[in-house]
Amino acid sequence: MSNQKINILVVDDEEEFLRSMTKRLEVRDFNVTAVNRGEKAIEAARDNSFDIALVDLKMPGMNGETTLAELKKLRPFLEVVILTGHGSIDSAVECTRGGAYSYLQKPCDLDYLLQVLSDAYKKRLMNKKKIKEDQLERLLNMAENSSPMAILRKMKELDQENA
Ligand SMILES: [Mg+2]
Repeated sequence: MSNQKINILVVDDEEEFLRSMTKRLEVRDFNVTAVNRGEKAIEAARDNSFDIALVDLKMPGMNGETTLAELKKLRPFLEVVILTGHGSIDSAVECTRGGAYSYLQKPCDLDYLLQVLSDAYKKRLMNKKKIKEDQLERLLNMAENSSPMAILRKMKELDQENA
């Protein structure tokens, strides 16, 4: 994981698409992890704190909708962009309800995709900031009746929640 770059998880069963998307994002300074199955995406997200996931809808095994749901369960503040060649209004609505940041059709204009990814990243940063502020408030409230060690323990706990 990189602290300077945007960490993105790209999930698509088409190997060629995965390769070209990885290259295109890497030259634009993203830190890319590419996997070809939803199941592998969940595994990767368990071990790493990604900023954004770009997820294909139609995949063998775990499909995009389920991958989205599982990713969100694991990492509520991960922003997920769904990308598909088989778009339909129904699946768009379902993905949006499932917490997807955005839903794009393939082939997608690269500049547009980059714009969406950058907006998704901004949303993540804002959410993180908001959470930090809420946590700080909780800590300050707690500080009146708790020992310094209890507060430190709580801070550590909250820090892990943020990943
Ligand atoms: Mg596919």
